[in-house]
Amino acid sequence: MRRKTSPIWHPFTQHALQPDMVKIERGEGAYLYAADGRRIIDAIASWWVVTHGHCHPAIVRAIQKQAERLNQIIFAGHTHEPAERVASALLKLTPPGLDYVFFSDSGSTSVEVALKMALGYWRNIGESRSRIVVMQHSYHGDTIGAMSVGARGVFNAAYGPLLFDVATVPFPSGGQEQTTLDALEVACRDKPAAFIVEPLILGAGGMLMYQPWVLKEMKRICEQAGVWFIADEVMTGWGRTGTLFACEQADVVPDIACYSKGLTGGALPLAVTLCRNEIFDAHFSHDRSRTFFHSSSYTANPIACAAAKANLDLWSDPATLGRVASVAAMQEKALAPFRSDERFKDVRRVGTIAALDLDVRDSGYLAGIGPKLLAFFGSRNLLVRPLGNTIYVMPPYCVTQADLDEIYAAIEDAANLH
Ligand code: PLP
Repeated sequence: MRRKTSPIWHPFTQHALQPDMVKIERGEGAYLYAADGRRIIDAIASWWVVTHGHCHPAIVRAIQKQAERLNQIIFAGHTHEPAERVASALLKLTPPGLDYVFFSDSGSTSVEVALKMALGYWRNIGESRSRIVVMQHSYHGDTIGAMSVGARGVFNAAYGPLLFDVATVPFPSGGQEQTTLDALEVACRDKPAAFIVEPLILGAGGMLMYQPWVLKEMKRICEQAGVWFIADEVMTGWGRTGTLFACEQADVVPDIACYSKGLTGGALPLAVTLCRNEIFDAHFSHDRSRTFFHSSSYTANPIACAAAKANLDLWSDPATLGRVASVAAMQEKALAPFRSDERFKDVRRVGTIAALDLDVRDSGYLAGIGPKLLAFFGSRNLLVRPLGNTIYVMPPYCVTQADLDEIYAAIEDAANLH
């Protein structure tokens, strides 16, 4: 085994199998420029965060301007213009009913905040509720709480003893939706604190998609049972599913919503958890023990907020959703030949996200084909990072037809690898 020379320990990386990292020097639009001179197409928006393209000029300018003025300030007891502007712009873009904005730094922390808001509400109104209902195959992040509400498996086997118990409803695969809804109804009878779900598509769980009417029904069940409905839109937000937020397609207003990744257009880490009045009000008191006890040093960092505001301005231009629609159409067209190719199965798409599974015997995240696929796409100068035998394409919205042609030609060739 060749030891690596750099002292850096990379995320989700088995260094014994992948000793050398791809060194990137510059990003522009849908492209990454490597130190060895290669131009790489970013087909996964750098872990689903880059929406308008790398180094979008409006976002870069906003960051530069803010960095010269105020780059950090404790957010307890203080506020600043970029955060105020982001919060009010967000509340204009999100459905009425979401009234308060809590800032944090990543998708995982936005989920921790959501869970803590739900439990804080029940405690503060004097009801003892702590159980969380989750969906099979979900992924909500890698902090302990976020892992607890995510699927148990290879990602978190070592930390199992630290994870709390949850009630799990089955994934609503086509034809099995009623089983999910019945299970949710049963789980809600035990008076859980909340149900958390990825709307319309489960990302890291394998790009598993389900119908908007199921989401709507799940919300109805939670509402009837008085269980908070948490929408984790960390991946699905910012146009990914074709609408600005996935919940819109089901006409669902979540009680608590988590947004991150594309919140800054993918330029800086930032997240928000939005909630209803009632949840804020349950914490609003002269009694200091009812405070919402959550913070991180960089909560609502002004530079990240300035980037987020620039991103929100881009979304206020209807041309941005128009761009999303054209990426969705290009993706659908690109997928068409694969639908009749028997080397692939479950060819699927929601909005700008396309996914298909290589029909191999050994499937799942640790499928033997995974590392081979990764190396193969790398050799074609593509950033495509399959989830086991599931190949997906989730590009920045500035991707061109020519880029997609290159990506899908490589996917076709990848079928011959095994
Ligand atoms: N929730 C969902 C649905 C995600 O897909 C992810 C990350 O992929 C997270 C939460 C965690 O976000 P982060 O990696 O920013 O902590």
